[in-house]
Amino acid sequence: MANVCTSCNREIAQGTRAVKFLCPGCTELEIWRCEHCRKLSNVYVCPKCGYTGP
Ligand SMILES: [Zn+2]
Ligand SMILES: [Zn+2]
Repeated sequence: MANVCTSCNREIAQGTRAVKFLCPGCTELEIWRCEHCRKLSNVYVCPKCGYTGP
């Protein structure tokens, strides 16, 4: 299964400087953010608990 950026729903290409971390809200879901969204500080929404963060 491909990893998808939680902010923009684009596939995370290998070799890009994407980050993943556990959702601070529920600490269960892995949030992925692509390099692009990190630069723009796009918000993400956890699909599980609805937590939003920059
Ligand atoms: Zn993205
Ligand atoms: Zn969550």
